[in-house]
Amino acid sequence: MALDDILTRIRRAEAAAGRAQGSVTLIAVSKVQPLDRVEAVLAEGHRVFGENYVQEAAAKWPGLRARFGPVRLHMIGPLQSNKAKVAVDLFDAIHTLDRPSLADKLARIAEAQGRCPALFVQVNTGREPQKAGVLPEEADAFVARCRGLGLPLSGLMCIPPEGESSGPHFAMLRDMAGRNGLHGLSMGMSADFEDAIAQGATHVRVGSAIFGARSYG
Ligand SMILES: *Cc1c(COP(=O)(O)O)cnc(C)c1O
Repeated sequence: MALDDILTRIRRAEAAAGRAQGSVTLIAVSKVQPLDRVEAVLAEGHRVFGENYVQEAAAKWPGLRARFGPVRLHMIGPLQSNKAKVAVDLFDAIHTLDRPSLADKLARIAEAQGRCPALFVQVNTGREPQKAGVLPEEADAFVARCRGLGLPLSGLMCIPPEGESSGPHFAMLRDMAGRNGLHGLSMGMSADFEDAIAQGATHVRVGSAIFGARSYG
C-alpha cells in the first residue's frame, strides 16, 4: 500500500539523517480526495490528516471521527478570518498563521474558548506575490508578536516555489526556526519529503503520493 511505502521511506530518511525513529509526523493530505480513499487510509490505521478548506473538512471529519475514533486534523490551507472560529473547533493544528489580523483573531477566540490549536507560522520563503505567508525578513517580528498575544506557537511552515529546488527554502526555514527557539518544521510534500526530513522537518504534508492524483471539478 502507498501509506506503508511512505511510512517506510520516512523511517529510512529519519535514520539516514541520524534522527530518532518517529520524530517525523506524517500528515496525510486528504483535500478533495474521494471518501473511499480516505476511509481506506483510516482503515489501515493512520490517524493524522491535513485539509485545506474549512468547509470541506467540517463536512467530512465529524462523521469520520464518529466512525473511526480520534483523528488529529491539521489545517494546511489559507485561513480566512471569518472561518477561524470553526477552524479552532475542528483542527488540532493550524499551519497557516500568516498575518497580524489572523493572530489577533485567533488570540480572541482562544481566550473565549479556553483552548487553541497548535500553530505554525507560514513563511513565504520564495517571496511569491500570489502566495500566503509572512516574508522572511518579517518572520522574527511576527513570531514575537504572536508570542506577545500568548498564542501557542509550534513552529514554522513553508511551501517552496514550484519548479525550484526546495533545499534552500527548507534550510532557510530551519535557520529561522532555530534562531526563534521553535522546534516544529512543517515542510516537505509528495515530491520532496525526504529532503525535508534531511533538513529537519518534524511534519511532512503528503497527499498525492498516498491517495493518488487529485481531480478537481
Ligand atoms: C495539497 C498540499 C500538500 C500535499 O501536496 P502533494 O504534492 O499532493 O503531496 C501539502 N501541503 C500543502 C500546503 C498543500 O496545499
